[in-house]
Amino acid sequence: MSKKLHNFNAGPSVLPKNIFEKTSKSILNLNESGLSILEISHRSNQFKDIFSEARELVLNIAKLDSNEYSSLFLQGGASTQFLMVAYNFLYNNAGYINTGSWSAKAMKEAKLFGNVIELASSKDKNYNYIPKNYNNTSDLDYVHLTTNNTIYGTQFKSIPNFNQSIIADMSSDIFSRDIDYSVFDLFYAGAQKNLGPAGTTLVVIKKEIIKKIQREIPSILNYKIHIDKDSSFNTPPVFSIYACLLNLREIKTKGLESIESDNKTKADILYDEIDNNSCFVGFVENEDRSNMNVTFNLTDNNNSEIFEKICKESGVIGINGHRSVGGYRASLYNALQIGSVEVLVTCMKEVESLINKK
Ligand code: PMP
Repeated sequence: MSKKLHNFNAGPSVLPKNIFEKTSKSILNLNESGLSILEISHRSNQFKDIFSEARELVLNIAKLDSNEYSSLFLQGGASTQFLMVAYNFLYNNAGYINTGSWSAKAMKEAKLFGNVIELASSKDKNYNYIPKNYNNTSDLDYVHLTTNNTIYGTQFKSIPNFNQSIIADMSSDIFSRDIDYSVFDLFYAGAQKNLGPAGTTLVVIKKEIIKKIQREIPSILNYKIHIDKDSSFNTPPVFSIYACLLNLREIKTKGLESIESDNKTKADILYDEIDNNSCFVGFVENEDRSNMNVTFNLTDNNNSEIFEKICKESGVIGINGHRSVGGYRASLYNALQIGSVEVLVTCMKEVESLINKK
């Protein structure tokens, strides 16, 4: 047996163990059908059942009515949504809240279709906080925000109120907490963090906003077509969706309230250590700290070798900060066990006691 690893990767990332077991079985023999999940037709009844259950569960977990909203599992990652959102809905002005890299990428794509107004930015402090004051927001096609910035480790603790359509990139905190999903006209998330393996992107869209589409849009980028075709305009990523379904069942059973409480417990343990350990310092302002991606630095970078060695010996992996920021980032997605956070905290304590002995 290899030693237990504690996987803090930012995505693709840790998923519940039983999903690996069930998906492994499905590759050999899906539900005793004699066929692999990798070879069934996406038009077969077997897959149709899988897909419709996954799509229904999404709305059910988000407490949204299927008459009002549609859930889609598309390809192209969240990055394709950066442009699809603007292609379909930006005609004059759209407001973007810039909380760093991911919002900036969304803005870059949107500029191809209309006028992008930066409603607020935290660039002045290297994106270590969530801006709270926004420029005048009247007459916008929509407001776009990133609920959780995976790179900097900032998270909107509540969704600001705008009298405009709100569109959210929820890639790194989808279904990690019990929020009111009905405040959004559209939200999207690459699957590879809290939902399942890479390969599909969840989009939840209020059907009514389809009326706002005014230009001709290539079919594959047109939300109306994906809704009309029940998310099967082209071949859906069958395997990825199957794994998402298994995870969505777990999320439904556990409930968002309980998931949120566990995620908070894990984050509190780690932030507490960062704040009380003389060798570490947190990156983000306290009130905006993400419960999903915890970013921190060593107070003295000369200790990096020793910290990383201790982590490696303890099976802690994936805590290097994003290449554009450096430092450390521990991603605490739903499936990460509290025991893994405790192991990381033990590593941090060990560094402190070794340094203090010097
Ligand atoms: N938005 C956020 C918040 C992300 O964290 C990521 C990827 N980590 C993306 C968008 C891009 O997602 P994808 O790689 O699926 O295009």
